[in-house]
Amino acid sequence: MQPFTYHRAASLADALSRGAASDAAYLAGGTTLVDLMRMGVMRPASVIDINGLEELRGVRIDAEIFRFGALAPMAETAALPALRERAPALAQSLALAASPQLRNMATLGGNILQRTRCSYFRDVSVAECNKRNPGSGCAALDGVNRNHAVLGTSDACVATMPSDWAVALAAFDATVEVVGQRGMRRIPIASFHSAYADDPAVETTMAHGEIVTAITVPASAALRHSVYLKVRDRQSYAFALASAAVGLEMDGHNVRAARIALGGVASRPWRAEEAESALAGHPLTEATAEAASHLAFEGARPLSENGFKIPLGRRTLVEALMTLRGTAT
Ligand code: SF4
Repeated sequence: MQPFTYHRAASLADALSRGAASDAAYLAGGTTLVDLMRMGVMRPASVIDINGLEELRGVRIDAEIFRFGALAPMAETAALPALRERAPALAQSLALAASPQLRNMATLGGNILQRTRCSYFRDVSVAECNKRNPGSGCAALDGVNRNHAVLGTSDACVATMPSDWAVALAAFDATVEVVGQRGMRRIPIASFHSAYADDPAVETTMAHGEIVTAITVPASAALRHSVYLKVRDRQSYAFALASAAVGLEMDGHNVRAARIALGGVASRPWRAEEAESALAGHPLTEATAEAASHLAFEGARPLSENGFKIPLGRRTLVEALMTLRGTAT
């Protein structure tokens, strides 16, 4: 690991002033940063520990809004009875992530910033990785790409965004609050993660030196009647091959409004708006769910090893919808 200086921030202002340096990185749960520093993928000259910033902790659940402090731990949040009752998809996305040890350490803010699990990105002996080494190429295009994305990819990068929590947030119109030296900004989750396009090294619309302070999600009928379904190679400590966060607002047997986001198959949390529109105003049946699932994967681009993700992703979405039909309110 490259030598670095460590500083425990005494205040938000202290963190922001030190974090502005181009070679600085913030440390929260450390489950991504420390891993990547050990591998030599991230090499900050200074690490600013923000764990002492009490104003970034805590979860508040009101009638109208859920407010999650960026430093709230995943495990503690997933276990909140009010969250499990009023926002099951959010609670399930946290509970199904990683391992118990990681969920105890990892934070809600850090989770949406976690970096791809593409093995080429994490192996510094591989030269071709546009995300780690801009302009070098993409080893996954003609290499091992079973776990890679089929939606939202570019010729420069086909990596998946690994966060389950971010997928659930995308379905329910979360807002990310960030602060920098120029003040506070609210970024809709839909525009928080960048499309890869030509520069996969740019992963979010945050500016360098900014800190995620909180995430808010508006309460809704669809969120109360929601589910997060995750399909993976093994039942624990595995990233999604395909996942779906789904919420339905029902009007009798008809869908009044649907919220759908997909994970494990895309370069960023993937909102499936055409599938949502196709369901609205119709009864929820196997046939309408199936039709919506095809719309959700329109335009998908399979690679040599991951074509199975398209039918798997469709089936995951249909299963999530049928799960909610069984619990229609
Ligand atoms: Fe790098 Fe993206 Fe290609 Fe993986 S898929 S090797 S992260 S450019």
